[in-house]
Amino acid sequence: MSNSLSNNGSFRMPLLAGNWKMHKTVKESLSLVEQLKKDCREVKDREILVCPPFPSIVAVKESLQGSNIKLGAQNLFWEISGAFTGEVSGPMLKEAGCDYCIIGHSERRQYFGETDQSVQKKMKAAFQFGLVPIVCVGETLNEREGNIHFKVVEKQIQEGTKDLKEEEARRLVIAYEPVWAIGTGKTASPDQAQEMHAFIRKNLTALYGKETAEQIRILYGGSIKPDNIDSLMAKPDIDGGLVGGASLKSEDFTRIVKYVAYAKI
Ligand code: PEP
Repeated sequence: MSNSLSNNGSFRMPLLAGNWKMHKTVKESLSLVEQLKKDCREVKDREILVCPPFPSIVAVKESLQGSNIKLGAQNLFWEISGAFTGEVSGPMLKEAGCDYCIIGHSERRQYFGETDQSVQKKMKAAFQFGLVPIVCVGETLNEREGNIHFKVVEKQIQEGTKDLKEEEARRLVIAYEPVWAIGTGKTASPDQAQEMHAFIRKNLTALYGKETAEQIRILYGGSIKPDNIDSLMAKPDIDGGLVGGASLKSEDFTRIVKYVAYAKI
């Protein structure tokens, strides 16, 4: 499949992930996945993921049995169990049927005090308990306008994703989500996104070597919509999308999942 071949020819399966944030009751979640299962039934050459709020996870898992849609969580805590009121652990998520976990989303960094250090601990815990972490990085508008966006993302990658074993690093997923593009309707242009994705891969190469870095999927996130996904996915280092608002409607998310795969440019 030419659209997923990296520069050195290694294959990266495109991943289209829906981050439902704090939307949808259990009933609403089930109604959305029922529709998504029908709409995305024939999709084979890409991975589809939904990340509902915690209360919906078990019901959504049951509904997804036998389908081509995977399940993820939006956060986890690094301890296995204990007196940590309000937190959820890796083993709990794994047993409930999650394969993935979003870590360090900018809303968690902004509103819940997450740092590169907590992100790194959560990422390690995700691997330890059999979940694939989707580690989010990205700069604010001030940081981009101050021309320090590369520096900011470099630090997030170097501190947030360090100390993995090689087989873990290969399965790691990064989501580049410029904070100024999340939920704002402003998308990074495909060229801006590609420039940062290539920079992130360069940093991953420094941490884990070229062969491993070429296998790491880097998703773009920030106001992905049915009408901009095709041009984003045409870029060589964009391996999928982390989708917020547009993942809440089956019609929109399905169109995103079924992006038109042009040759990578
Ligand atoms: C997100 O929640 O990760 C996100 C990118 O949101 P949106 O697509 O709504 O900008």
